[in-house]
Amino acid sequence: MKLAGVIGDPVGHSLSPTFQGAAFRAAGIDARYEAWPTPLAALPGRIESLRGTDVLGANVTIPHKEVVLPLLDELDRSAALVGAVNTIVNHEGRLVGHNTDGAGFVEALRHEASFAPEGQPVLLLGAGGAARGIAFALAVAGAGVRIWNRTPARAERLAADVRAAGFSATAVATPDPAGARCVVNCTSVGMEGTGTEGDTPCDLHRADPGTLAVDIVYKPAETAYLKAARNAGLPVLGGLAMLIHQGALGFELWTGLAAPVPVMFEAARAALAGAGQR
Ligand code: NAP
Repeated sequence: MKLAGVIGDPVGHSLSPTFQGAAFRAAGIDARYEAWPTPLAALPGRIESLRGTDVLGANVTIPHKEVVLPLLDELDRSAALVGAVNTIVNHEGRLVGHNTDGAGFVEALRHEASFAPEGQPVLLLGAGGAARGIAFALAVAGAGVRIWNRTPARAERLAADVRAAGFSATAVATPDPAGARCVVNCTSVGMEGTGTEGDTPCDLHRADPGTLAVDIVYKPAETAYLKAARNAGLPVLGGLAMLIHQGALGFELWTGLAAPVPVMFEAARAALAGAGQR
């Protein structure tokens, strides 16, 4: 039996064991996906343990996505660009770090919303860790990335980092959706347990008709932002799509097989519905 897992602190809330386990079973792979709660002091030992012959690799989540970099042997282009790792692949004892968050977001746009970002103006609301991966992946794909953040200096820094890597991005002073073809909530506004569940980070009534409204928050499935978008008659995409597609890319890196994406969605939705009933 092979092993994979998610490394973070905490990881009890993670949906990855549910949908990655379902993916292994559906693909007939004899592997188990576990939650590996890991405080910072235990991170070097945990990473070392991934070199074992039975380990396919791991996911890395908050708060270790950046501190893990020096513990790895190699970074792929996405991880090097973003400066963060969410997926580790064990190549016979050699650990390679990848970042599938941004690419997973772009895959979700393409496959779940039929939105091709090439040449399209996209407004990102937020400039935290998630926005960073998304900004680089959209810029690499050729989108015109605009970034607004509550704390403007952070948006300016992210846009400057994207430009320094040779791509285009601009920081904007207001969260005005007019002129964008896609507007993405990359803030934690609307997320369960934050006290902002009824809030939205921008006024979507100002969006052009047909603008795709994307939320990366997936708890609740229907955020206030998505509700406002539907009320404004806009097409929407919820946060589960990014989560599943970043995981699907990880599955493909570990196994070399196409990920059973519908099975992964189904398992995650069932777990979220079950959690909602408790
Ligand atoms: P983070 O690094 O802590 O960044 C938080 C962002 O939210 C910052 O831009 C922050 O702005 C902004 N923010 C927080 N409260 C706000 C408020 N009241 N008004 C306006 N802006 C506010 O977090 P993260 O890792 O980027 O995660 C952000 C969200 O994305 C979380 O809800 C997380 O669950 C979700 N997420 C989803 C996926 C997925 O796969 N679907 C993946 C990763 C993250 P300031 O800079 O001004 O503080």
